[in-house]
Amino acid sequence: MKQSVKLIAGNWKMHGLTASLAEAQALQDAIKAQSVTCRVALCPPATLLDRMRSTLVGGKVELGGQDCHDKPQGAFTGSVSAEMLTDAGATLVILGHSERRAGFGETDADVAAKVEAAIAAGLEPIVCVGETLEQREAGDAVAVVSAQVAGSLPDSLSERDFAVAYEPVWAIGTGLTPTLEQIAEVHAAIRSAIIARLGQGTAKTPILYGGSVKPDNAADILATAEVGGALVGGASLKADDFLKIIRAA
Ligand code: PEP
Repeated sequence: MKQSVKLIAGNWKMHGLTASLAEAQALQDAIKAQSVTCRVALCPPATLLDRMRSTLVGGKVELGGQDCHDKPQGAFTGSVSAEMLTDAGATLVILGHSERRAGFGETDADVAAKVEAAIAAGLEPIVCVGETLEQREAGDAVAVVSAQVAGSLPDSLSERDFAVAYEPVWAIGTGLTPTLEQIAEVHAAIRSAIIARLGQGTAKTPILYGGSVKPDNAADILATAEVGGALVGGASLKADDFLKIIRAA
């Protein structure tokens, strides 16, 4: 297991055109100048991966996809396979993001199949889980998230590198965040669920927090028990903001 340092990953979603390469370059330059010790990753739209690899050559910013198909190739119009992400320069991939679960009907079983495909292609999956506001208000957050972990992690992960991201659906893009106690409670439950599913070998698997992480709340969140990093949406689009979050790690 290679991770003991924190992983700060940016999810650009469907934002970013070629002009955004300048933000990635600025980020990389600043990271180099400031001897950052945590892992830093950017997950841009798949069309930018190859150009970003060329732009960022020689630096420490890792690249990731935002989704992949569970098959290596085939008649799947519009889809991108894990191998294709690897070929384009990715070493990680976000899977099971709530925007994919809710907007594209992805089930835990779908996510598990994609995780297997990612592992087979040599990618490090970041497997997202998180409850809706309704589920939290019903007192079901821990049960929902634990079940998502159990259903989204395939057996093949036991000896592999991967991360889980706790992203409460109601915190994504809203400016709302759980309390630090709530984050600690769910992260502890996720740790137990990962170990129950895959064994003690996963006791150090990073569990990231995601959902409205900003420069002004990053330090507190990243200092919370069992928080092994952050998955950052909106605040990863501007190098200055993302850098402040990276510095907080
Ligand atoms: C995300 O989409 O993964 C995310 C965490 O978004 P934001 O930081 O904008 O809430």
